[in-house]
Amino acid sequence: MNENRKKIVVLSGAGISAESGIQTFRDSDGLWENYRVEDVCTPEALARDPELVIGFYNQRLAQVLKAKPNPGHTALVELEQKYDVRIVTQNIDDLHERAGSSNVLHLHGDIRKKRSQVDPDDIEDIVPLEKGIRMGDLDRYGKQFRPHIVFFGEAVPNIEPAAKLVEEADIVLIIGTSLNVYPAAGLMYYARPDAKIYYIDPKAESAKGLDKRVVCIAGKAGTAVPEMVRQLMEEA
Ligand code: NAD
Repeated sequence: MNENRKKIVVLSGAGISAESGIQTFRDSDGLWENYRVEDVCTPEALARDPELVIGFYNQRLAQVLKAKPNPGHTALVELEQKYDVRIVTQNIDDLHERAGSSNVLHLHGDIRKKRSQVDPDDIEDIVPLEKGIRMGDLDRYGKQFRPHIVFFGEAVPNIEPAAKLVEEADIVLIIGTSLNVYPAAGLMYYARPDAKIYYIDPKAESAKGLDKRVVCIAGKAGTAVPEMVRQLMEEA
C-alpha cells in the first residue's frame, strides 16, 4: 500500500443505484415503491405491523438481488488503482461491493442482513437471501429478527467512523443524494478546509445552502461518475 496516495471519500445516496433500477424515494413524491415511509421505515411501524415492514424489506431485497452495478459503481473501483478510496453509502443495497469496491461503510444498514431486536450487535446474514427474513425467524432471545436497517428516528451507529474518514480525506465525492437525510447530509462539513468537494447529482445545481467550496456537477451517476473518475485518474 502506497502511503502517499491521496485519500478519496465517496458519500453515495440512492441516486447512484437509480440507473440499476432501484428507485430513490425523493424522486417519487416521498413514497418508496408506493409505500409511505412512516408505514414501513420507522421503529413504530415495526412494532405496529412487523409482517408489513419485514415484507416490505423482503421485496426490496428481491429487487436488489435482480439489480446489477452500473457504470457509476464500477468507475469508482478503478480509482483504487491510484487512490486510497473509502465509500460511505446511505444505500442498503450491495451494488458497490458487487462492483468490486474494497472499503464500503453502510450508514443506514445492509439489506442482506437481519438483526436482533434485543441485542443490536447480534447481526446475521439472511440465508438463503432469496427467501428474505421469515416470520417466526427468532433471535436467541426468542424475538422476531428485524431487518438490519436504520429506520427513520433511530441512531446511526456508523456516523462517527464516517465523519473520521471525511476528516482525513483530500477529495470528497458526493454522488446521488438529495442531502435531505441527516446526519448523513452533514458529513461533508467534516471535510478539511483544503479538501476538494464535488457533488454529482441531476439536481446538484439547485441544492441550497451548500458550502462555497462544493463543485456541483449536474448529471446522472452512470455518465458523470466515469467522467469524474477519468479526470481524477489523470490528476493523480
Ligand atoms: P437521496 O436522499 O439520496 O435522494 C435521491 C437523489 O438521487 C436525488 O437528489 C436525485 O436527484 C438523485 N438522482 C436520481 N437519479 C440519479 C442518477 N441517475 N444519478 C445520480 N443521482 C440521481 O435518496 P432518497 O431516495 O431520498 O433516500 C434516502 C434514504 O432512503 C437513503 O439514505 C437510504 O437509506 C434509503 N434508500 C436506499 C436505497 C438503496 O439502497 N438503493 C434506495 C432508496 C432509498
